[in-house]
This record gives sequence, structure tokens and C-alpha cells, in this order.
Amino acid sequence: MGKALIIGAGGVASVCIHKCCQNPDVFEEICIASRTKSKCDALKEKLDGGKTKISTAQVNADNVDELINLINSFKPDVVINLALPYQDLTIMDACLATKTNYVDTANYEPLDTAKFEYKWQWAYRERFEKAGITALLGSGFDPGVTGVFSAYAMKHEFDEINYIDILDCNAGDHGYPFATNFNPEINIREVSAKGSYIEDGKWIETEPMEIKRVYNFPEIGEKDMYLLHHEELESLALNIKGIKRIRFFMTFGQSYLTHLKCLENVGMTSIEPIEFEGKQIVPLQFLKAVLPDPASLGPRTKGKTNIGCIFIGKKDGKDKTYYLYNVCDHEECYKEVGSQAVSYTTGVPAMIGAAMLLTGKWNKPGVHNIEEFDPDPFMDDLNKFGLPWKESFSPELVD
Ligand code: NDP
Repeated sequence: MGKALIIGAGGVASVCIHKCCQNPDVFEEICIASRTKSKCDALKEKLDGGKTKISTAQVNADNVDELINLINSFKPDVVINLALPYQDLTIMDACLATKTNYVDTANYEPLDTAKFEYKWQWAYRERFEKAGITALLGSGFDPGVTGVFSAYAMKHEFDEINYIDILDCNAGDHGYPFATNFNPEINIREVSAKGSYIEDGKWIETEPMEIKRVYNFPEIGEKDMYLLHHEELESLALNIKGIKRIRFFMTFGQSYLTHLKCLENVGMTSIEPIEFEGKQIVPLQFLKAVLPDPASLGPRTKGKTNIGCIFIGKKDGKDKTYYLYNVCDHEECYKEVGSQAVSYTTGVPAMIGAAMLLTGKWNKPGVHNIEEFDPDPFMDDLNKFGLPWKESFSPELVD
């Protein structure tokens, strides 16, 4: 049915590519392009032989002209951006120049400021609309499935949703004292930033890890959660009717937090360049180089993730609470696609988002967050492609 250009060949891309190959009626042909071509070739070698035709290419996604040349030669129907958030705008520029649909899983972040918000990508709205192409923003799990869950809750369960708590629980254990489950640089920038949430239309800022709560998760048990700033708060507060407060919580174990504090205290998480032996280096980028590659955690990680949303609102004039979540097992993911559950829970929705555009189930030129589309076909595909969802109308973990 279509051709997809996948940019990036890391943990998330690897899962997305496996899943495209499991859906060959939609993904007839894919091209895997990244900075390091050998990683693309290794993925091709693993997956070649199925119905989906695979090719590879080298590309520097910071360079718009290189991207335009690649798109013009492969002629994809959609570009799936699974490189880093720094590349979002260059890839969107290339999609505009070639009139190609665009999908990503994380919002743009300037390399020199650890601040992520949608304003840079939302600024492309009119140009994408005029070009008749769609940019689907945030088609991972969070952002991504959390937005689809919100749209589904709004469509089927509520007249208005007043409170959303997004709960990202990873109870996996990889056996290392300190490692990150996705790109270490992006992960550490995210968790060492100030926390924030939206209440009555205003952002409330907190110190990093200032707000801690304990939740009792189905299939996992009690876990410490900390309030973080997260990108989907910004779009969901606008797109879901009736929101009074929206927050995001993530689990962190004590070992992770102790190591992070120590690395922060000695300056290793800084993104300010320093002089080292006559060369400028960024401490956080150096730290990334010495930490385990998230793609290598797959065979070591045991346990489950539970990511979902608690919604509180009104239906037919009555108060209502609804909890929608997915539980994913690290070892099962590794058995299926050779990756741990954090890459899996992001790579599967990236494939599904692209499939929504390729099949025309979602067709809305412009730049859109995922909750702006009909959630039903996406929810069906979650069940079909390895991320079945569960619901509860009386969740015990609500405070
Ligand atoms: P990895 O670091 O494993 O992979 C990133 C890939 O992008 C690598 O193959 C890297 O190439 C490539 N890349 C980086 N810069 C460039 C460039 N300039 N040109 C071409 N290729 C480039 O990251 P992950 O797979 O863990 O994460 C991928 C994305 O997914 C990130 O944006 C992350 O924020 C997002 N994410 C989203 C989640 C969600 O739920 N929404 C959850 C987890 C992650 P090389 O191999 O040469 O370094």
C-alpha cells in the first residue's frame, strides 16, 4: 500500500522496522536511513526475506539538502522520524519541500537548551496544510498512546474530562546500577529538568523530582513515581474538553536517582561545552558514550512496564473515574523483536501512526498531535500489534 522512509537505526527504530515487516500489506517497501549506515545494514540483514522490500541509506538528518535528495530518490509516502528530537525541524523542512507526510515520537528540542515544547513544530501548521500533507506529532507511547487513550476516553466514556494523570511505570530491571532505557542524552535532559504540570490553564513549576507519590500498579505492585514535565501535557490541555489539571508521573528507582544526583553534582549532566585536552566536549554527550547503549539492554531486562492514564470527569452529569493502560513484558518483547519494552512500546505506535496515514484512515493535512485523530482504528491496531490495552472503572491506585 505504501513506502516509508525510516530515519534512525537505534532502539526505537529497530522495533518499528520489525513491526513494519509484520504489516507488509501496508508497508510494501521501507528504506532505513541513518547517520551510521552499518546499523541500517545490520537491521536489513536481520529482516530481509519477508514481503516488505528493504533498502538502506546513509543520511545526516541535520542537513536538509541531504534529506531532500534522499526523499526524492526513494519517493516515500511517509517519513518516520526515529532519530533524535534535534532533527525534527530539518526533517519537517525536507518533508515540506518534497510534499511528504511526516511522523515522529518526540517534540523538537534545541541542542543547546534543554527545553522542549511544541511551538516550533506548531509553527509549520499552515505550510503543511497548504502543501496538502500531514505531520503526525508524538506517535510513541508517551507522547503517543497516552494521547490516543485520552481521545478514546473523551469519545466513548466522558462528556468532559477534568483531570488526567499520566503514569509511566517501568518496573524492569537490567541489572546495571545505572543505565537509561532510551537515548541517555535525551533521557537525562528530560529527568534533570524542572518538573511542571498544568492547573486551571497555567503551568505550575516544581523542582526536579520534588513531587513523589506511591502507586499500586496492576500486575506490578507499589512503585515510587515522580512528577516530570512532559510534552503531551501541552497539547492535551488544549485538545481535551474540560481539563482542569493534567500531570505526568514516571517511576525511578533509588539506585537511578542516587547515581543521577551524583553525576549532576560533579557536572557530568551539563550541556554546556567545556575545554578538554584542547577540544570542546559536552559533558552529557561524553557521559552518553560511557553508558550502556539502550539497544543492548534487551537481553538483560526482566519485569514489566505499565503505562496509562487515569481520567476523572463527568458523564451524563455524574462523576466518573476511568483508567486505561497497557502492560508490557520486557522479556516477551525481547523474544519477539530483540528489544526491551521501552523501545517496544515506542516503536509499535510509531509503526501504527504511519500505517494510519498510509491507509488513509487518518487524513488531515496540517500539523497535528495524535489526540486530534479518531482513536478507534489506532486502538484496534494496538491490540493487533502487541500492545493490548486494559480498562478499569474503579482503579484502586487513584489517590
Ligand atoms: P537511539 O539513540 O537508540 O537512536 C537514535 C538514532 O538516530 C541512531 O541510530 C542515531 O544514529 C540516529 N541519529 C542521530 N542523529 C542523527 C543525524 N543527525 N542524522 C541521522 N541519524 C541520526 O535513540 P532511541 O531509539 O532510544 O530513541 C529514538 C527517538 O525516540 C528519540 O527521539 C526519543 O526521544 C524518542 N522516544 C520517544 C518515546 C515516546 O514514548 N514517545 C519513548 C522513547 C524514546 P547513530 O547510530 O549514528 O548514533
